[in-house]
Amino acid sequence: MSTSNHPRSWVTCANDHPDFPLQNLPFGVFSRSGGEKQGGAAVGDFIFDLQAALDANLFEGSARIAAEAASRGQLNAFFALGASPRKALRNELLKLLDEHSAQRERLQALGDSLLVPMSECRMHLPAHVGDYTDFYVGIHHAMNVGKLFRPDNPLLPNYKYVPIAYHGRASTLCVSGTPIKRPNGQTLAPGAEVPAFGPSKRLDYELEVGVWMGQGNEAGEPIGITEAGEHIAGFCLLNDWSARDLQAWEYQPLGPFLSKSFATSISPWVVTAEALAPFCSAQPERPAGDPKPLDYLFDEQDQRHGALDIELEVLLLTAQMKEQGIAPQRLALSNTLNMYWTVAQMVTHHSVNGCKLQAGDLFGTGTLSGPRAGQLGSLLEMTEGGKHAVQLPTGETRKFLEAGDEVILKARCRKDGEVSIGFGECRAVIVG
Ligand code: CA
Repeated sequence: MSTSNHPRSWVTCANDHPDFPLQNLPFGVFSRSGGEKQGGAAVGDFIFDLQAALDANLFEGSARIAAEAASRGQLNAFFALGASPRKALRNELLKLLDEHSAQRERLQALGDSLLVPMSECRMHLPAHVGDYTDFYVGIHHAMNVGKLFRPDNPLLPNYKYVPIAYHGRASTLCVSGTPIKRPNGQTLAPGAEVPAFGPSKRLDYELEVGVWMGQGNEAGEPIGITEAGEHIAGFCLLNDWSARDLQAWEYQPLGPFLSKSFATSISPWVVTAEALAPFCSAQPERPAGDPKPLDYLFDEQDQRHGALDIELEVLLLTAQMKEQGIAPQRLALSNTLNMYWTVAQMVTHHSVNGCKLQAGDLFGTGTLSGPRAGQLGSLLEMTEGGKHAVQLPTGETRKFLEAGDEVILKARCRKDGEVSIGFGECRAVIVG
């Protein structure tokens, strides 16, 4: 189906841009060379500088309030404003950047003070993250990993009742492009009685989506399932780096600790719920025999529209491939429809005991593997715990990550009749 009826931009590189057409307009924090951190919106290969737009008096009313909050070096205040001012700002940006905008010539005259080439900017974490929680809602991943760790009992009985999560480490979140240092830790070799200490030999990635919290709640006042969507500011890609050998030894009884807390990478652009609205979908029906969610997690509207249809991709580029000019190899292609719980259910469950969520808190979905080969979101699953090696075009093989390996996550939404949007990249090189 044609998308020719959709608005196009006078920023011509935005039209048909794989990630950032006019219909996306994600928010992020950038700096010009040597400059301060500031907020902007991505359009094509440019960053729309919100401070420059405010200086030129381009906004008024609630769009102006939102632009002021989103122009800062951290987007927490912008997230805290909630959905309505964010929508007002988005609508203004859509008007200003439209090819038929009455302001077009005036905006073009502002040149690169208003539209900065992305290639000249550095991206930063979009917000200060007070708390980071990693869920486990990818049911195929939970099943695959469960089989490896507990062959007789892969999926624990709570899984289909509780959106399972653990508290991650906010201080080691890093933006795409930050190199990842291989962690040291305790591991128990097969058959050994005591652990050894040293560098992880089973370093892995996890393909996840990150969820940014908007307006929070007061302690003791849970966010109900019907209003949970209004509390979400946006989405990014997230790579939950995992040292599997540390994890296997430490994870019982309290879950992952040092095997995860050394680093988590995220993509810098916050894709809003508004941009994703055309790609919302019904939550896939639960397999026959699975329990219905408890009442506090069940809402008809959420079941009908609360799932997301986002294509997710993992690629690997080794140092040797880079040297030989070989393109990154795809390791997996999956989709957010593999989530057993919706994002609203994650928010509601997290706050149901009275836990206070705050603007700028980050959730990970958990690894979003699909049911088949070619859809697996970690090397642990692809190699069945290191039993088989992945073949690469250089003749190299991988069971887990090696020094110089670069892992690239991408995400893209496609639907007939809609302009496709992407998330940009979440990439990082392993050092050591
Ligand atoms: Ca994870």
